[in-house]
Amino acid sequence: MTHIPENSKRENQAGAPLASSDLADESGAVVDPHSADDARASKMPSEAIHAAAYAAEGAGSAQTPVTPGSVRLRIHPALRFLLPRRARDNGEVDLAHDPSATVGHVVQSVGVPLTEVGDLVVAEVAVSLRSRLQEQDRLDVGVRARPQPLEGPARFVLDVHLGALARRLRLLGVDTAYEKFADDDHLVEQAGRQDRVLLSRDRGLLMRRALRRAAFVRGQDPDDQLADVIERFQPPLQPWSLCLVCGGSLAPVSKALVANQLEPGTLRTQQEFSRCQACGHVYWHGAHDVRLQQVIRRHT
Ligand SMILES: [Zn+2]
Repeated sequence: MTHIPENSKRENQAGAPLASSDLADESGAVVDPHSADDARASKMPSEAIHAAAYAAEGAGSAQTPVTPGSVRLRIHPALRFLLPRRARDNGEVDLAHDPSATVGHVVQSVGVPLTEVGDLVVAEVAVSLRSRLQEQDRLDVGVRARPQPLEGPARFVLDVHLGALARRLRLLGVDTAYEKFADDDHLVEQAGRQDRVLLSRDRGLLMRRALRRAAFVRGQDPDDQLADVIERFQPPLQPWSLCLVCGGSLAPVSKALVANQLEPGTLRTQQEFSRCQACGHVYWHGAHDVRLQQVIRRHT
């Protein structure tokens, strides 16, 4: 795919969504202290993570007694990359018992956003986020099942570090809001006002109480992130329907209407064009499409 004007900066951002320079804005996306191991864990395709998770289940040292005055959390293998390093092997964390703390609060206190959590079980009985633990309880924290129902429109808003993921989602036709300089308050407000799922790798942001729909994105690589989001939410896909630059809708446009914006080579070789109804970017399917087509084929 190519865009005009061909030499503009925006053209480069939109026209080469798979170029390595696009991945640069992914660095520093993780604002937690465990980023190195997180990266390693997240490199695994999510299916592999889950397969490994289920294989490892039941292999922990769950038999050690919980000392009086404490409670124990046992975290599902697929969520252990979120834990403090010392707890990642067996997924167990002992905490001082706080009778006033809800289960939701206790789970978040070990670094696991509730957006990622599935079943919560104490002594084979399901408990809720608002439940409170008893001294010496063992709380099993499950991982959110996939696919996860969207519970609303298939619309997303992405944290500032996920620009490359935003372009890939738009390529597949998924309604994706993204602004390079949006602050956290703005993201939370926009997610609520426009009823969008907030995607982020910032656990502090994901723990905001005002968020109704949100998810932690696995992986550092934008292609892995895309696979994670598509596999998790399975949104309807409509490739080549949205502008990669702004997310606006594309509509067919006649060659005559855009001819004065085209390079001679493009004029000669291309016949079908579409234009973003929001920002005016012109698109056509050209020699640059190959890698984009690969992304689409992988998911459709
Ligand atoms: Zn646009």
